Amino acid sequence: MGLLNEFDQTPAADIGRELYSFAEELFPICRSITGSGIRQTLSVIQERIPIETVEVPTGTAAFDWTIPTEWNIRDAYIKSPNGKRVVDFQKNNLHVVNYSVPVHATMSLSELRPHLFTIPDHPEWIPYRTSYYQENWGFCLSHNQLLALTDSNYEVRIDSTLANGHLTYGEFYIPGELADEVLISCHACHPSLANDNLSGLAVATFLAGRLSQRRLRYSYRFLFIPGTIGAITWLARNGKAVSQIRHGLVLTCLGDSGGFHYKKSRRGKTEIDRAAAHVLRHLSESSEILEFSPDGYDERQYCSPGFNLPVGCLMRSVWGKFPEYHTSADNLDFIRPDKLAESLRVCGAILDVLENNRRYCNQSPFCEPQLGRRGLYRSTGSPADGGELSARLWVLNLSDGNHSLLDIAERADLPFPLISDAAELLHQNGLLSVVPDGAAG
Ligand code: ZN
Repeated sequence: MGLLNEFDQTPAADIGRELYSFAEELFPICRSITGSGIRQTLSVIQERIPIETVEVPTGTAAFDWTIPTEWNIRDAYIKSPNGKRVVDFQKNNLHVVNYSVPVHATMSLSELRPHLFTIPDHPEWIPYRTSYYQENWGFCLSHNQLLALTDSNYEVRIDSTLANGHLTYGEFYIPGELADEVLISCHACHPSLANDNLSGLAVATFLAGRLSQRRLRYSYRFLFIPGTIGAITWLARNGKAVSQIRHGLVLTCLGDSGGFHYKKSRRGKTEIDRAAAHVLRHLSESSEILEFSPDGYDERQYCSPGFNLPVGCLMRSVWGKFPEYHTSADNLDFIRPDKLAESLRVCGAILDVLENNRRYCNQSPFCEPQLGRRGLYRSTGSPADGGELSARLWVLNLSDGNHSLLDIAERADLPFPLISDAAELLHQNGLLSVVPDGAAG
């Protein structure tokens, strides 16, 4: 039986509420690519799944990159002459440009102005800005807040530190029957942003929790890492695990109300690309398949030419294409419990295809075996028939040891679970034999 069936035992509404409240718990934390925010995030995840936390020292080389100094922040504000905080980090952690160097000074509005960032088109929203690899400081505020600033002197304070420390990431390995691995990766470095960051973290955490309770064919490796530098660091340190990756998914932007998007791996026609496309094609929700491009999330690193791993990216709305992206409007109102639950279900369905995508050999290949004698034939006019008979006939016909169940599902244009259930039934009835993993096709 597939993962999907097990997911279905808990009502989707309950799973959705749990995923949402997990995102709510993580929302206030001020995360960055290093520092206490990401550590705190990983320890919240650890309450659900036993991830290992890895600390890599500042200055460590990773391919063409170097682990930066660790950033931590306690407070930040812009104070007007009457002592009132007109911009306050304590109210929203997006107010500080992430990785700002410390500053404490009094300055005029014109001196301050080059350090202020707004979105004039959305005057209520605060933008999310970073300056990881260039020493700088700044504040992000709503355009309305900026317009309210008068020409006077402001006390500006960013109580941050940039010091030798570590880059921190989380890793969770679930052994299966095979050493071959499925990689599930999500970024954990964005501060209070819900869809871009927390939705992926929540879905990945719950997916890992479910998988760890199952008997699995593949081994699974979950990464909770800072974007870009985290993936580069992990790839640089884990040659053996990299060589065992057979399929992979980057999970992000999975809580909004948009339809699903799957971005193919660089190779484009790998099993994960086909499994994701197949599952999305048979959903009632709208979905779209995107060709690979060297932008987006950490699929950029996994699909860099030296690795060229079969790793795609599953999203609902696409990064940069929704107005709320990287703004304070990507908040807890922007994500929905039912959308998170459906995203988890879709991830489960994709992994279900990978887990069950075997090849079989028809043991009775000379004409059709007599299914009616075995109780496996239903008259085609029966209202109870939801394609089961058609699935059995397709599986029998194409199970020549060369076609996988996904090949058959694609060719028959039937949902994968129908095909895999048919194969299981025919196997139980002695009509199919399994081609073992690793056998030549
Ligand atoms: Zn982002």
